[in-house]
Amino acid sequence: MTPFHILLVEDEKAMREFISEQLRNEGYRVSEAENIAKAELWLKHEQADLIVLDILLPDGSGLELCRNLRGITSSPILFVTCLSEKSQIVQGLRAGADDYIIKPFDTNELIARIEVQLRRLKRFQQNVPDYLPPSLTLESDERRAKWNGEDLVLSPKEYQLLAVLCRNRNRYTSAEELYSEIWGMSVQDDVRTVKVHISGLRRKLCHAAGDNAFELIFRKERGYRLDFIDKQTGRDNR
Ligand code: CA
Repeated sequence: MTPFHILLVEDEKAMREFISEQLRNEGYRVSEAENIAKAELWLKHEQADLIVLDILLPDGSGLELCRNLRGITSSPILFVTCLSEKSQIVQGLRAGADDYIIKPFDTNELIARIEVQLRRLKRFQQNVPDYLPPSLTLESDERRAKWNGEDLVLSPKEYQLLAVLCRNRNRYTSAEELYSEIWGMSVQDDVRTVKVHISGLRRKLCHAAGDNAFELIFRKERGYRLDFIDKQTGRDNR
C-alpha cells in the first residue's frame, strides 16, 4: 500500500525537520514547505492526503491558506499552533481545519491526531457505493464524479455529499448528519453550509444529467435524499 502523503507547512527549520523526521519514522511520506507561496506551488502539482499547517508564517497566515485550500481540497488540515495563538483556534476550525495541536506538543499526540484524521479519510474513501445508476461513476481516488463519462466538476465537498447521499439510498440523511460526516465537527452554521453545497451539487447534476434523471429531495424534519430515475420506467432504478 502506498504510504499516506503529508504536506508539512512550517517556517521554523528545526521544528519542521523534527516533525518531518517523526512522521517519516511512522512510515508517512512527507513533503515540506516553509511558507505559503511554496505550499501553494506544491499543491498545484501534487496532492496531499493530509496537511499539517502552522498559523504564523512569514508570508501570511495559515488561516488564510486553509480557507483557500478548502475550495480545492478535502484533505484533512491540522493546525500546529503556539499557545499564544490559541484564540485563533476557533477561527482555524471555522476556516475549515479538521483539528489542531498546540506547541509545544507531545509527538505521540500529534501522530495520534494525524491517525484519527487519516482513518476518517480512509473510511470515507472505502465507502463508495456500488449501486450507482449506470450513468454515474464515482472515482474515489480522484474524488471525481462523472455522468455518462462527463466530469461533473464537483468541489471536494460536493463530491463527498454525492457519495454519502448515494450510499444512504432509500433514506433521508439530516443536514447535521451530513455535516458531521463530511466536515467532521459540529458548528452553528452547519445546516446553512450543507444547504449551500447541496445547491451546488444539484446545479451540476442537473447540468450534466438533466432534471428528469434524478430527484434530490429535501424534507424539513428529515433532511436530504437522492433518487435516480430510470428514463424508461420512470422509476428509481437502483
Ligand atoms: Ca511559525
